[in-house]
Amino acid sequence: MKAEIITIGDELLIGQVIDTNSAWLGQQLSLLGISLYQRTACGDSKEQILACLHDAELRSDIIILTGGLGPTKDDITKKTLCEYFNTNLVTDEKVLAWVTHIFQMRKMPMLDINLQQALMPSNSKTLWNRSGTAPGIWFDVNNKIFISLPGVPFEMKVIFDEEVIPLLKQKFELPTIYHRTLQTCSIGESFLAEKIKDIENNLPSYIKLAYLPSVGTVRLRLSAHGDNKEKLIHEVSQICNQFYERIGEYIYGEDNDNLSEVVGKLLKEKNKTLATAESCTGGFIAHQITSIAGSSSYYKGSIISYDNKIKTLELNVSDVILKNDGAVSEACVKQMAQTILNKFDVDYAIATSGIAGPDGGSEEKPVGTVWIAIANKNEIIAKKYNMGDNRERTILRTSLMALDMLRKMIL
Ligand code: ATP
Repeated sequence: MKAEIITIGDELLIGQVIDTNSAWLGQQLSLLGISLYQRTACGDSKEQILACLHDAELRSDIIILTGGLGPTKDDITKKTLCEYFNTNLVTDEKVLAWVTHIFQMRKMPMLDINLQQALMPSNSKTLWNRSGTAPGIWFDVNNKIFISLPGVPFEMKVIFDEEVIPLLKQKFELPTIYHRTLQTCSIGESFLAEKIKDIENNLPSYIKLAYLPSVGTVRLRLSAHGDNKEKLIHEVSQICNQFYERIGEYIYGEDNDNLSEVVGKLLKEKNKTLATAESCTGGFIAHQITSIAGSSSYYKGSIISYDNKIKTLELNVSDVILKNDGAVSEACVKQMAQTILNKFDVDYAIATSGIAGPDGGSEEKPVGTVWIAIANKNEIIAKKYNMGDNRERTILRTSLMALDMLRKMIL
């Protein structure tokens, strides 16, 4: 069984909006065991949409459209679907009552164009939208399913989860696909592959391993296909155990775990506190830590010592260190970490100093050189990295490395 996605909107073609709907739908279809054959982005034009529908119907069994369901003039998906299926629009009384209720609740007058939200193609099924005024539409024509969803991502997601999935499960006998993802940090994709190549080579044909690298992290996703879910879960779990034994030090979490959350949980469990002294990361580590709800119970605060004067005044980095070793040095980050640990009276400290670029590099310390120190009451560990020449990636990578070093120290 093949599926295909058509996302509609000029804004997608000119790059004004990134097509996250396709990415999300692709993940959901894969979890359901439905293989995605093609994704197409198409402009707000009737001819283009008709051509996309025609081509998709020749290839696929399930065609999912997003966008263009709203009440404005450029939202033409509903009318175009009517033309495609040679049908007309009729009022869905339940939707009309819902749209009227929403406008009453918001104490807003209802315009004629809002009434159009309740018009649905006569040969379709309405997909209830409890988070907006544009319902989704389900067509089952000649055993091909066409699903039209709003473009707004959160509305599209709610309708897909609550309405589309149950209908797809009812309509098709879906195979079992089981995914489990291990999240790794502080090791590159090729080094990981080298370390686990024998395990990978021995995987049965129905279990696939995918490497999903992003800045500073690599996700390892195992996908198992079959009929017996319990058996697949057991087999994948045995393979994961082999990964934990071989590369456990790099695995910080699973599935959607986030490194700051993992570190936060560890600190909370052990009843420990943390503070940061950031130079090249400019508060980005603090931002990542405080993005986690409840972080106030373990995170005390930060000194962003971007200027050397602040390193001296607030973090006791001496003129001698700055003159002899420089601000990007082991001695400097160790002093920063030690001072923040004492000053904020915490159990753990992180300090960073580096050359994020594009200027400021030298032969001895090229752009991307970063020192990170992690301290507790008994020890200070400092490491030097080269994070490359992209400023944004250096800041992100440094933050992740620092959090991972802290995770290892706590463990
Ligand atoms: P509305 O009722 O709000 O008009 P709609 O179904 O008409 O919904 P669009 O007008 O096509 O949807 O898109 C509304 C907004 O949703 C866009 O401005 C954009 O921000 C977002 N959006 C649309 N398509 C996508 C997509 N494929 N990926 C991510 N965001 C999208």
